[in-house]
Amino acid sequence: MSETPHLNLDRAPARTLMGPGPSNMHPRVYAALSQPVVGHMDPLYFKVMDEAQARLRTLFGTRNDLTLALPTTGMGAMEASLVNLIEPGDEVLVGKHGVFSGRMTGIAERCGGKVRELDIAWGRAVEPAQVEAELKSHPIKLVCLVHAETSTGVIQNRLPEIAKICHAHGALLLVDTVASLGGVPFHTDEWDLDAVYTGSQKCLSVPPGIAPLTFGKRAEEKLKNRKTPVQSWFFDLTLVRKYWNEERIYHHTGPVNMTYALLEGLRLVDEEGLEARWARHAHAAKALHAGLEAMGLALFVKDPALRCPTVTTVEIPAGADDVKTRKALLEQHGLEIGGGLGALKGKGWRVGLMGEGAVGNHVLLFLGALGGILNAQGVKIKAGAGLEAAGAVLNAPR
Ligand SMILES: *Cc1c(COP(=O)(O)O)cnc(C)c1O
Repeated sequence: MSETPHLNLDRAPARTLMGPGPSNMHPRVYAALSQPVVGHMDPLYFKVMDEAQARLRTLFGTRNDLTLALPTTGMGAMEASLVNLIEPGDEVLVGKHGVFSGRMTGIAERCGGKVRELDIAWGRAVEPAQVEAELKSHPIKLVCLVHAETSTGVIQNRLPEIAKICHAHGALLLVDTVASLGGVPFHTDEWDLDAVYTGSQKCLSVPPGIAPLTFGKRAEEKLKNRKTPVQSWFFDLTLVRKYWNEERIYHHTGPVNMTYALLEGLRLVDEEGLEARWARHAHAAKALHAGLEAMGLALFVKDPALRCPTVTTVEIPAGADDVKTRKALLEQHGLEIGGGLGALKGKGWRVGLMGEGAVGNHVLLFLGALGGILNAQGVKIKAGAGLEAAGAVLNAPR
C-alpha cells in the first residue's frame, strides 16, 4: 500500500446541486454508468449510439443528419462548433452579454475569425435590430449567441427573428444551449437555427463529459466548401460523423459508459415528455423567484421575460458575506450554489434549477437555508415570507 492519502469515494456526499451545473443525477443514470464496458466498435455500442442519436434529434427538435455527441464538455462543444464553422479571415459576430458569450470571441479569434462583438449590458438580451444593423454594414458569415447566459441568468428569447435576419444576409447562426436544452422550450428546425450545441450535466442530468451538437444543411454546406482544413483534427466533424453514421470508421474510442448514461438521461426526458419537463422547470423557477423577492432580495435580471428558469442570479444583499454564505450552505446543508462570475463576482449568486434538480424541495431547502444563514449574519430579510411565497406557488394548481 502506498502512503498516498486515500479519499474514500464510497462516502462522497450526496449534495443538493443548485449551482449553474452540474445538476443532480437520477439513480438510473448512475446504474447505466456502471454497466459493463463493451468495445467502441461493438455492434451493441453502435445500437446505443443510434438510439442516443435519434433521441438527441428529438431533444434538439431537429431532423438534422449531422447530430452526435462528442467526448467533451460544453466548452469542447463550443470549440468544436466554432473550429468547424470558421475559416481564417471570416467575419464573425458575437452577441456578448456575459462570460460564456465572451468565451466564444476568444475561441473564434483563435480560429482566425475577424470578430465583432455586440456588447450588450449584462442582464439584457441581444435585440434582433442590433444584429440586423451589424449584418447590414459588415459581410458577416457567422453569428454566435448564447440561449441561456449562465453568468447572468438571461434567456435569449428572440432566436427565430434573429435567425431570419441572419439568413437574409447570408450568415449562419450558432446557438449555445448548454444551460437550457431540456429545461426550456427549444426548436432547432422550427426556429431555423444552423448549429446548436449543449452539454450533459445541466438540464439533462447526466455527468459532465459528453456533449451533443447538431448541424443543419447550411452549416453542412460550410463544412463542404471550406478551403482550409479544420484546425482541430479531433473536433473535425466531417471525420467524427463517419464514426456515428453507417460507415463506422474508427475516429476515437467512444466514451462507452458516458454514452450509456446519456442514453438513459434521454430516455428519462422522453418518459417525462419535453413539454412537461419545460413546465416543471418554469414552475420551480416561478416559486424560487417569488420566494427570493418575498424575502426582500433582488433578482439581477429586471425584465421578467428575460429571466431564464434554469439559472437565477440574485443580488447579494448589503451586509451579507458572499463566501461565508456559500460555505455555510455547503457545510451545514450540503447545498451548492454558484458564486458570481465576471462582473458579478462578489455581487451575485447563481442558483440553478436544472434537470432532476428543478423541483420544489430544492427551492424550499435553499430558501429556508439561506434565510437562516443571512439572519445569523444580521442581514434583515424576511425568511418566513420567502418560504410562504414559494410554497404558495408550489401548492397552486399548474
Ligand atoms: C456551463 C456552460 C458552458 C460550459 O460548459 P462546460 O461543461 O463547463 O464546459 C458553456 N456555455 C454555457 C452557456 C454554460 O452554461
